[in-house]
Parts: sequence; C-alpha cells; structure tokens
Amino acid sequence: MYIPRDIKKAYEKGTRAADGKPGKNYWQNTSRYNISITVLPPNRNVQGTEQITYFNNSPDTLKQLNMKLILNIHRPGATRYASTTPDYLTQGIQVDSIFVNGAKKEWDNAKALGTNQFVALDQPLMPHDSVKLNITWHYELSLKSEREGMIDPTTFYIGYFYPRVSVYDDYNGWDRLEFNDRQEFYNDFNDYTLKVTVPKNFIVWATGTLQNPNQVLQPEYAKRLQKSMTSDAVMHIATADDLAKKNITAQNDLNTWVWTANDISDLAVGVSDHYDWDAGSVVVDDATHRRASMQAAFADNSVDFHLAVKWGLHALDYLSHGLPGVPYPFPKMTAFQGFADMEFPMMVNDSHETDLADAELLQDHEMAHTYFPFYMGINETRYGYMDEGWATTFELFLGYTEVGKAASEEVYRNFRVKKWIFDPSTTEDLPIITPTSELTRGYGNNAYVKPSLSYIALKDMLGDDGFKKALHVYMNNWHGKHPIPWDYFNSMSSGAGKNLNWFFNNWFFTNNYIDLNLQGVTKDKNGYMLAIQNIGGFAIPFDVKITYTDGTTESLHESPAVWAYNQKQISVHIKADKAARSIFLDNGIFMDADISNNKWISK
Ligand SMILES: [Zn+2]
Repeated sequence: MYIPRDIKKAYEKGTRAADGKPGKNYWQNTSRYNISITVLPPNRNVQGTEQITYFNNSPDTLKQLNMKLILNIHRPGATRYASTTPDYLTQGIQVDSIFVNGAKKEWDNAKALGTNQFVALDQPLMPHDSVKLNITWHYELSLKSEREGMIDPTTFYIGYFYPRVSVYDDYNGWDRLEFNDRQEFYNDFNDYTLKVTVPKNFIVWATGTLQNPNQVLQPEYAKRLQKSMTSDAVMHIATADDLAKKNITAQNDLNTWVWTANDISDLAVGVSDHYDWDAGSVVVDDATHRRASMQAAFADNSVDFHLAVKWGLHALDYLSHGLPGVPYPFPKMTAFQGFADMEFPMMVNDSHETDLADAELLQDHEMAHTYFPFYMGINETRYGYMDEGWATTFELFLGYTEVGKAASEEVYRNFRVKKWIFDPSTTEDLPIITPTSELTRGYGNNAYVKPSLSYIALKDMLGDDGFKKALHVYMNNWHGKHPIPWDYFNSMSSGAGKNLNWFFNNWFFTNNYIDLNLQGVTKDKNGYMLAIQNIGGFAIPFDVKITYTDGTTESLHESPAVWAYNQKQISVHIKADKAARSIFLDNGIFMDADISNNKWISK
C-alpha cells in the first residue's frame, strides 16, 4: 500500500505502528484553557480573556507557537472556498493583549490577517515543559450566521471564538492549513473551564457540565434541569410561557455561567433570551448505568425542534448500543437552532426544517459526529473522509431504526450516491486518499459518499459482528488521539485478523467507480454460470436476482470478497434445477453507473 514519504517517517520513528496501534514513541500535545467571555445582546461584541497552559509532550524544542484564529475567515480578503455576502464580514479576531510567561508580546491585528499566526517564544519551549499564555481579545459576531454568528438579535451562536494553539503533531509539525470555511476541525484534546457572563434572563447552553445551576437559575428551573438528568421523558425546562414571565435566571444584572469539560477538542456556546429549553436523558453505558443528557434550545414556532430531545434520546441510545456501539462518550448533547447544520463537541447547530424526516436525519448526522471527529481526534483538514464518511454511514443505519431499511436506503441513494455516480467528471472520481485540502469540486463525494460506501462494503464483507469487532479495535486504539488513514487501515486489518490492504487499495487509492457488467450467462447441468466484469472497479457487494420461467424468484448475495485482490473478471455459479427467464445484478445502495448491462434475458 502506498504511504506518502512524509507519513512513512512517522512509522519509521515509531510514533505510529504497523499493527495499527499508536507507536511506542507516540505523543501528542495538550493544553489547559481557562476562558471567560462576556456577551451583552443585542450588542454583538464578544469580549474574552483566557489563560492557556500549553504542554509540549513532543521530543522537539519549539521556538514558536502557531495560533489558530478561525474567526479571521470573516475578514474582508480572507481566503474562502466560496464567495460570501457583506453581512458575513467583520474585522475578525482583535487581540488586545498577549503575554507569554508573563512577558507582553507585540501583536499587530492589521498584520494578523489569516487564520494562522505564529507567536515567537523568547525562551524555546523544551520537550516535557509547558508555557503560559494570557490573551485578551474581542470580536464582533457576524450578522449572517453560518457556522457561528447572530441567529437573531438576542440569540447568538458562539463558536471558534477563542484563540487556540494549533495542533503540533508527529507527522506534519504545526498545522498551518488556512481555514477556508470548509474543513471544520483538527484540534488537540484539552481541559477547559469556561465562564460566560450574560445579562439576566439570558440562558446559556454550552459544551461541558454546568457547574453552578443553582446560582444562575431560579430554584424551580434548576430543579427541572436536575430532574431531567434521571428522566427518560422529554421535560420542558423552560416553555414560551415561562420565558414570557422573565424570571428563569437569577435576577442579578449579570450572571456568570460556569462550565467545565475535560479531554475535549473544542467548545461552543449558545445564548438566547427567548429560546425554549427541553431536556431528557438516557442510559448510554449499561456497565456503569451512566446516563447522558439530551437538551434542545429553539424558537417556539419550530415544530421540528419540539421533537429534538425525543429524537436525540433515540440517537444517543442507538449510537451507544448499535453502531458504532460505543457508549456516548460525553455527559451531554444540546441541539441548538441556528443555521450551520454542523457539529461541535456536545452541541449541534442545525437549521429549522419543515420536513420532519429531514430534520431528524440532519440531527442524527451531526450527533453521530461525536465519534468522528471528536472522540477520535480526526484531522479533518487533510482527511475529511475519516469523519464525514462515518457520520454518513451511521446516519443510514440510524435511519433503519427510524423509517425502516427501505426508506432509509432510498434517502441514501437519492441524497448521497446519485449525485456522485451519475456525474462522470474526472474530479468526482479522484481517489479518496487525495488530501482533503487539495480538493474543491470533488470534496463532497470524496469526504462523504465514497468513504461511506467503503465502510458499508467492508461491513458486508466482514459481517456485522466482524466489522464491529474490527471497528472497536480501531476506536480503542485511537480514541482521544490523532489517527491518520494508515492507522485506520492497519487497525481494521488487525481487528479483522486478516490483511485487508487489497480492499483499502481498491477503495481509497483508485479512480474506481461502480459499474458491473453481466457479460454472459451459460447453462450447465447444475444451473447457470455467470461471467461478471467489474468495469467501475470498486469492490462492492451485490445480489444476483433470478426470475424463473414458472414465475418464482430467488436472490443470492455476493460480498465484496468476490473481488479479492482486485480481480476485475469473475464467474459466479447459480445452482438451479429449473429454467431461468431473466437474471439481474442488483447493487442496492451501491448504485450502478450503467444499469443497462446488469441484466440477462433468456432468448
Ligand atoms: Zn458531517
């Protein structure tokens, strides 16, 4: 299997290993963040201060730190993958002061244009040492909310909101790729304390565990929230009627809501003075009886969001017990109504949908992202398929439990596979392994559709139990760490107990697509011999469907194993003691680019 020359070095250095596990020399850096922000809606200014303690666990001496300033995507002139409107533009992050180990550093906001900014260290940061940063900053929320911004004049979604140290890793060094508003995350796992100060009657939802509900909420509402933590039922913490009375929060001029979250890759915050608040909880870990809280914050007239907690409890249950079948790793999930259709750790920011099935599917997808990229610390800027492909896959199987197999597969075909398979453009058939950062047009299919099909094909080939076992080996090897594609390949081979390189070569390193050709059918004394050519090349499962002259039918399943070691031409024998009228190769969700050559009809 091809390994890029720079990636090969990581395996040679022993930070990664051929058995799929982190190598004996694996390391990753981490930080402790202490963040305080003040937000006074409808004023869109967000004021922040933070202390970052950054730990260098690498064997390297760092002479500078690369800071990520994602919000600079809002600056006029920022590099974006698509155009934007004036309402999106702001001056980005304005750093008011920055101290490194107590010493003030020069910072020129006019020059700090991009989403990366190096800060030189007076004293190099030695291996196994740490450095303290104190930063004060402010920014203006954009009027137009995309991934974050103003939802309405008194409802804000605050994401990507603090300067952070970018990832320094063993295979690439500093992550210096510009945020261009497409690939969403590549972050270290950090410990956070977050304080959000807002005026009275504003409720705050955020990543983490609320530390002071009795201080910021009136007793009745704190009691309801507490009760939801042990109740399977959907509870209304604050209804439109409650909100109208303006007595949900403590009646101080300002309240400071305190949150903590450990070993997590980012934070997001929602603030509103008129969003309804629902909550419930469900057991996610049978061994420890641990429950996770599902909450929702939304405009009262959004019919879909009134169902968000009910849907969310089902999704938490399925993801914990079905696929991936790993107990939901966080104490909470909040569905916040916005415009992003995007995941953050413990939060999803989804738009209002009038079609309820679409709304549930969207929420399922964003919640499924908890596992990839957040539980598994995926580098989405380079390997988008390592998280979007999984969210797309879990979304399909969650759909089985909601609308049934046939309906869920119909949605998957129509909204996922069709767009790719009937578009013969060169860019859409680029190998999945193509670095995500280098893709423009081919991004959607390479991040979502093709990798998802590869995961489903592998599940078909290994069987449900074998697949889950291998997936768990991969997830156990790498959760809380930064796996790259070769760690996935190696872990799955180890977990499956066989070398799957031919399969990964087939799906990740080729320009394959899907087109089977039923070349010929010959009768023999036991039945029929089928000659099948794999024109498209992907190792897909398919069903051979036979209709006999007496009107009866039969279906025979073939797993991707029939294409082992990348054969393009196979023979499949069908046992039959009666005459066939027609034979059809049905690929199911593995839609065929040319269905006209899938059928044989007896003359
Ligand atoms: Zn996604």
